[in-house]
Amino acid sequence: MTYAHTTTLHGSIVMPMHGLGVFQTQNGKEVRDTVTWAIEDGYRLIDTAAIYRNETGVGEAIATSGIPRDEIFVTTKLWNTEQGYESTLAALDASLQRLSMDYVDLYLIHWPVPEKTEDTWRAMEHIQAQGLSKAIGISNFEPHHLEQLMGAANIAPSVNQVELHPNLQQRHIRSANTAVGCLTQAWSPLKQGKVLSDPTIEGVASELGVTSAQVVIRWQIQSGIATIPKSVHQRRIQENRDVFGFSLDTDQMAAMESLDNGDRIGPHPDNRDF
Ligand code: NDP
Repeated sequence: MTYAHTTTLHGSIVMPMHGLGVFQTQNGKEVRDTVTWAIEDGYRLIDTAAIYRNETGVGEAIATSGIPRDEIFVTTKLWNTEQGYESTLAALDASLQRLSMDYVDLYLIHWPVPEKTEDTWRAMEHIQAQGLSKAIGISNFEPHHLEQLMGAANIAPSVNQVELHPNLQQRHIRSANTAVGCLTQAWSPLKQGKVLSDPTIEGVASELGVTSAQVVIRWQIQSGIATIPKSVHQRRIQENRDVFGFSLDTDQMAAMESLDNGDRIGPHPDNRDF
């Protein structure tokens, strides 16, 4: 079974395949604690966004972690209302100020806004050229959104972060991403906890002597999908990272792959109303 702890973007930027998501984590003590626990436990990727309103706390926890900034991979995202050339540059500047950082490792377009894609991506390419983000990417892009972007792009996106869990395996998106050298990263990798009592997953978990969450995270990593489970509980943060000491065999991988039923928790990117 092949898997990797890290991958490489643009030939030189090392990105962990596993990290901590901080959606719905309160700015201040809650996000500082979760990021601190995660880094202590060995996490080296933190996924935030301007719209999560917790970049300040993320930056504070990283600054006081004792780990050099260049050993932690920080992702943040451009909110929909800020798309466009100048507004994208200004939005990244505001995120960097909140993070108290002079660069991020990955800047993502949070959702496709097709009428703005060209201008926004031009700004993203400028951001990468200036070193303000080491890599640039997208989120919630269906293959047709990616095709539109590629029509105007000089640099292909490094990452496409999409809703992806056992019930929504996004094979069409994964193959479109792969075709342009773009890594797929799973958001809501645990389906916000709603997939953890699935009997098939519980069965694999009991065969392996691990938890359902660990099975799901491990299945993603073994499938070459980067993953960013979120928790505000130290014990779960540790549990979600303890996935490198076991592996799913071919039958267990096939069992996981049989769970794709198209059920999503977020909106389809073509029907977003925010
Ligand atoms: P997840 O699938 O990561 O699930 C998080 C939920 O599962 C929380 O309720 C958490 O509870 C619970 N949980 C976590 N670990 C365990 C465990 N081991 N056992 C039982 N329950 C557990 O959902 P998210 O929506 O948070 O997605 C992850 C990250 O993806 C986000 O934090 C964000 O960074 C990113 N994201 C990106 C989006 C995008 O549009 N690009 C959209 C949504 C998310 P508790 O916290 O109480 O422990």
